[in-house]
Amino acid sequence: MSATILDGTRIAQQIRTELAAEVRTLAANGLRPGLAVVLVGHNSASEIYVRGKVKASEEVAIYSEKLAPPESSSTEDLLALIESLNRRDEIDGILVQLPLPPQVDAKKVLLAVDPAKDVDGFHPMNVGFLSTQRPGLVPCTPAGVMEILRRSQILVAGQEAVVVGRSDIVGKPVAMLLTNANATVTICHSKTRNLAEVCRRGDILVAAIGRAGMITRDFVKPGAAVIDVGMNTITDPAEFARFFAGNEKREETFRKKGSVLIGDVHPEVAEVAGALSPVPGGVGPLTIAMLMFNTVKAAKLRRGDGKLSVASGQLC
Ligand code: NAP
Repeated sequence: MSATILDGTRIAQQIRTELAAEVRTLAANGLRPGLAVVLVGHNSASEIYVRGKVKASEEVAIYSEKLAPPESSSTEDLLALIESLNRRDEIDGILVQLPLPPQVDAKKVLLAVDPAKDVDGFHPMNVGFLSTQRPGLVPCTPAGVMEILRRSQILVAGQEAVVVGRSDIVGKPVAMLLTNANATVTICHSKTRNLAEVCRRGDILVAAIGRAGMITRDFVKPGAAVIDVGMNTITDPAEFARFFAGNEKREETFRKKGSVLIGDVHPEVAEVAGALSPVPGGVGPLTIAMLMFNTVKAAKLRRGDGKLSVASGQLC
């Protein structure tokens, strides 16, 4: 058996197309959703992420603004900046790109973001809304996992779902979303005993661990839907060969770039799973699409309209 590959790039494009139509309708009614991205100092990886977010905003005609306070910024400087963004009515979403410089109290800064503009969905108030199934802003990557399942017609209600990873930004919110969607959910972590055995119970298995190729075929129930959230970079030729020997496309990438991206799921799982989200091209593209979704949703929620006409509005 060979798994159906779940095409995150196509699904993300579908969502962006729907959002662009939604934004056109809002614009016709005098509302243009606005996103502020705060990038402190110069971190090259963060700069690439922020460029992607600004570009995606342009594509769906969301107004976006990049704010780039200096590396030397203090907690107080950033609190003042967040406060000014909280007050600006044309800004619906505020995203503080992490990591922040070491002198900054990141938790204090994130807590200062108005929960109604918290498009990352990390504020404790949004965490509470999610766990009590009230309208709120859901973290982007977990929301993307649910969109992949839903748009691939993978049954969730009544299914056994196993989530490996319990971080606040991925594992826990994914588990909560699956619970809200009526799956029977098990959360695993580094202290879980008999991990492979527990994972094999999953009709749906979500891997959010941060360990290259850790989920091998013996972790997977035959026919299960496997969602790989992991993003790990391999640079060691021996490690590369262990995962991708004989894969011409990957070998070419490795030769050209000296590295390849791999998820938490071993490539051999494609021979056992019923459906599999690839890395790259699976959950990753959904994360930015859901940030756009959250910005539009925030614009509407702040004005008292919790409904979003694109199909993804069912999420919460
Ligand atoms: P994290 O905060 O480091 O959490 C990792 C989780 O995995 C923890 O709960 C940890 O358990 C668990 N874990 C680690 N080693 C384990 C093991 N040997 N057995 C079982 N569980 C183990 O990571 P994260 O922020 O959630 O991210 C997870 C992965 O997703 C990373 O690869 C990250 O790059 C990727 N990611 C991708 C996107 C995207 O857009 N595609 C977005 C965010 C994150 P403990 O709690 O016991 O330590």
